[in-house]
Amino acid sequence: MSPSRSRQRQKEPSREHRSLVVPRCSSRSLRVVRTTAMIAAVPSGRHPIRGSALTRLLYYEDSSLREFEGTVQEVADRDGAIWVELDRTAFYPGGGGQPPDRGRLGDVPVTDVREEEGRLWHRIEGKLEARTPIRGALDWRRRFDHMQQHTGQHILSQAFIEVASAETRSFHLGEEEVSIDVAHPGPDPELLRRAEERANEIVWEDRPVRIHEVSRAEVGRFPLRKLPAVEGMVRVVEVEGFDWSACGGTHVSRSGQVGIITLLSTEKYKGGTRVAFVCGGRALRRQRERARLLRELALEFTAGEADLPKAVARLKEESLRMDRRLKTLLRSSRPRGASPSS
Ligand SMILES: [Zn+2]
Repeated sequence: MSPSRSRQRQKEPSREHRSLVVPRCSSRSLRVVRTTAMIAAVPSGRHPIRGSALTRLLYYEDSSLREFEGTVQEVADRDGAIWVELDRTAFYPGGGGQPPDRGRLGDVPVTDVREEEGRLWHRIEGKLEARTPIRGALDWRRRFDHMQQHTGQHILSQAFIEVASAETRSFHLGEEEVSIDVAHPGPDPELLRRAEERANEIVWEDRPVRIHEVSRAEVGRFPLRKLPAVEGMVRVVEVEGFDWSACGGTHVSRSGQVGIITLLSTEKYKGGTRVAFVCGGRALRRQRERARLLRELALEFTAGEADLPKAVARLKEESLRMDRRLKTLLRSSRPRGASPSS
């Protein structure tokens, strides 16, 4: 297992399939398609294809699980880092654009989680013994943030389809910002406003977010735009009556938990448009930061926040006037016949 792995944007050649692709800690390949048979087996807690050799994925049984009990199966020292495998875990290993969880196993910090052919490995900063029971606790603030952003992304991607027939090609959930690449050459401010408005309508309607695990044959009953290119069972995430996406990520249980979706900026990207946005807690923190900046600027200019543009314009005008005055003074103070550079 190599510590390096793909943390790049998650491509969405088929949006339905995007989150079934998960990173893998293998030098042979950076990514592996998690078989949908494993995903579909989750509700029973058993994996029919490999039995107990695979980690039981508690985050698929209940994505709101913050703590759990498990047993350390194996401890491995790889590339100078200690990794432990558990028989069951609520730690999401990352995939489909969503980063891995962090947290603790007992008192030991978990700094990374990776999947390797159905076995989940937790990178720890400390020591644990094999065949010992352990209590796991997620960094819930981080996980809930990821769920807010990820469900928000599903909603925003569908909103872009509704208002502009623009498919999402890729999704990236960064530390600060989230972005999607939409197949639209240049959405104008009005179109962006409509997409943002529609997405937030869906958030505020507080629609249930449901997980369906269905066979490949049954998936046709959902209005997926493209059939996922996998065999076996498919995990479909539905924002009730609005969006259906095949996805292996973790999600909030109601759209209202996304809180708010705020667009930040757009830029042209590979014939389409990259749209940066934030949801929920991130939107609140950004708003707080912007409010602080505005307050500081208002104090600096001794002006009300609404008067700041005028105050800045006045300052620019004053600066230009001073500049012109300075040049005039320099010209008039220069001795006759002297060159400008002397
Ligand atoms: Zn997803």
